[in-house]
Amino acid sequence: MTIKSNCCSCNSSQQRWADNNEPRSSNVPLRIDMHTHIMPPSLPDFSKLYGSPEQNGDDWMTLRSHCLSSSGPSGQTGAASTKVDMYVGEKFFRTVEPNCFDPIVRMKEMDATGVDVQVISTVPILFSYDKPIEPATALARYLNDHIASVCRDNPQRFVGLATVPLQDVSRSVAELRRAKVDLGLKGVEIGTEINGCSLDDPKFNLFWEACEDLDMPIFVHPLGYELERENKSRWGNYWSAWLIGM
Ligand SMILES: [Zn+2]
Repeated sequence: MTIKSNCCSCNSSQQRWADNNEPRSSNVPLRIDMHTHIMPPSLPDFSKLYGSPEQNGDDWMTLRSHCLSSSGPSGQTGAASTKVDMYVGEKFFRTVEPNCFDPIVRMKEMDATGVDVQVISTVPILFSYDKPIEPATALARYLNDHIASVCRDNPQRFVGLATVPLQDVSRSVAELRRAKVDLGLKGVEIGTEINGCSLDDPKFNLFWEACEDLDMPIFVHPLGYELERENKSRWGNYWSAWLIGM
């Protein structure tokens, strides 16, 4: 979703600003795309980082090079590609283009479409609320560090949202604080429910209070249904996750 201004001359002004990197004139509206996702170009194997796959579960996200000559997403044979295949455990999830992980590609596309700033947040499949807390916390830190580095390198173009391991509220508050104070992230993205728990469950009150104290706006994002990690009976009809959940 792109928030567009009502100025009919934006495109030419935007392109000039992007090309010359000059300070913006105060009468040129800023175009901010507040719903964009990003992921690192690679991920450690979190199933083995704090214990064994038996303890941590073996269905963690891994990223593999996409192969041009393979007929399907094998990641094992064929010529190398700039695309990446996402796997959950051994199950193929989707193939993504470099614009999912390469800030340079993203900025070119932003310039081409007249977007000044992207608000970047984690790909929701990486929330990992169903995972043990130690590796889930490590993953959240890894993703937040990555988003912060992209924002630090390109402060005029990207604003970052944190992710937190909401299966543990006190860990989430700690990571939220680190994301704000140490990393400079501007808000937080969370799912629509946490392991079957609705967001109005009182156990999340401490988290809402921390968001308020730290002035961290919240972007609530459904997981979708490509994996059985969300309450299908509640959200499955009428495209509800997208029409109501966002
Ligand atoms: Zn989204």
